[in-house]
Amino acid sequence: MESTKAALSEQTVVQNLDESSLHELAMTAAAHAYAPYSGFRVGAAIVLTNGSVVTGANVENVSYGLTICAERSAIVRAIAEFGPEIHIAAVEVVNLNNAPSPPCGACRQVLAEFIAPDAYVTFPAHTHSGVAAITLPFRDLLPHAFDLQLK
Ligand SMILES: [Zn+2]
Repeated sequence: MESTKAALSEQTVVQNLDESSLHELAMTAAAHAYAPYSGFRVGAAIVLTNGSVVTGANVENVSYGLTICAERSAIVRAIAEFGPEIHIAAVEVVNLNNAPSPPCGACRQVLAEFIAPDAYVTFPAHTHSGVAAITLPFRDLLPHAFDLQLK
């Protein structure tokens, strides 16, 4: 019963969401990115099943390896604001470089912790006509996510 309720609320949130607003929120977050080393400024906006939208930006580090992506920074921020029981209904990722920026492998695995397989993820990708936003269900981005099942 709980999963049916969650699925219904996810559909409601996504249907009521103004897609251009989500895009603009992600673009604003990208403008706030800290990317002095690569100049690659990425923003993410995640829609939670509670109806809230939380944004994140990439934050680079001089060590490079400690850099955090926009998607994961949004998830960290969402948990800080709403607690560990968040459920992600949709994600949009953008960048200010007009470059393809699908979520990286690390972000896909972290998203898998909080997102439904049928939630939509929108990101810039190579298409036949150049770089354009595409939308895929999360299950197509990470079909075999690591999952800890001990039995
Ligand atoms: Zn990433």
